[in-house]
Amino acid sequence: MFEFELLHADGAARRGEVRTPHGVVQTPSFMPVGTRGAVKAVTQRDLVDLDAEILLGNTYHLYLKPGDDLIARAGGLHAFIGWERPILTDSGGYQVFSLASMRHITERGAEFRSHLDGSLHMLTPEKATDIQAQLGSDIAMVLDECVASTDGIDGVRDAMRRSARWAARCRERLQRLRQGPVVGVTVTNPGQAQFGIVQGGIHPGLRTESVQATLEIGFEGYAIGGLSVGEPPAVMYDVVGHTAPQLPADQPRYLMGTGMPDDLIECVARGVDLFDCVLPTRNARNGQLITSRGLVVIKNARYAEDPLPPDPGCGCYTCRHCSRAYLRHLYIAGEMTAATLNSIHNLYFYLDTMRRIREAIMFGSFERLRQEFHQTFSRRPLQ
Ligand SMILES: [Zn+2]
Repeated sequence: MFEFELLHADGAARRGEVRTPHGVVQTPSFMPVGTRGAVKAVTQRDLVDLDAEILLGNTYHLYLKPGDDLIARAGGLHAFIGWERPILTDSGGYQVFSLASMRHITERGAEFRSHLDGSLHMLTPEKATDIQAQLGSDIAMVLDECVASTDGIDGVRDAMRRSARWAARCRERLQRLRQGPVVGVTVTNPGQAQFGIVQGGIHPGLRTESVQATLEIGFEGYAIGGLSVGEPPAVMYDVVGHTAPQLPADQPRYLMGTGMPDDLIECVARGVDLFDCVLPTRNARNGQLITSRGLVVIKNARYAEDPLPPDPGCGCYTCRHCSRAYLRHLYIAGEMTAATLNSIHNLYFYLDTMRRIREAIMFGSFERLRQEFHQTFSRRPLQ
């Protein structure tokens, strides 16, 4: 049911297709983040209009509310949220490490208190696999131990090795679920694939060891985790450039939680196929529009009577219908549609950048696109 086809390569950049039980994803692809079964401020209809081909759902949030049992009874996450296209779910580990009010890590798993009501939970590799089986995502992720970027190499090594042991348990559990019914677990998507995660921080030797351990277990695809946690972009690019080429060419590669549009281009250039990040939607809600020439910080007084769209070169609904002056007014007035219109633009910019990347790879002009993009794009406010 799950397949990856490499259609074309241009240098290390890859153009491919991920086939899942809920349809095909053209890669390189960006996945909008639908944390709690919703991409904040936009509807599933907006996402179809934007031609988002795959969404990401957060297991930690969905497990706590409304609960994976409830979602399984509704027929799985696709049915519950009314989204017929592919979904990837994370393992919940990252949120346990970043959100839970208390956590205690042992070899068995991660014990934590819910950030919502303080209730006590235990997330083991088996439990993370079961929850995702009940959610019925098309791609499930293994549970890994996340470490801070400030942790020393010994802490990073220990977490990486424990993550490999947890990954083996996740795989074993999924194989068991594939063999036949398990009491208490409703498998809502029998064609679900599972990706392993390469850890090892910014240390090339640990990354290589993690690649070997993860490949030895064997998954339908591989993710690079533990990046975009505060390290400079150049360091992240080095780690991706070191790790991605060691992963199998005939399987998809997913860089977790990255990043700005120029990060996406640089990591495509190093052989990554799938991305996710909250940045376009989070920035949108904070009034930051990401454009081909820099950030439009919409609350800025200079936009009060600006009749131009956020990005005159953009074809999104927001840029076709709204001036900067109107968007500034909505934002300052606290209108909910400010978040919606800004999110539509930012998501369009990301998805359109990926479309242009895919086209360039097919035509063998990726390097030219990369140069042109860097010449105009800026992370700083528009001048
Ligand atoms: Zn736009």
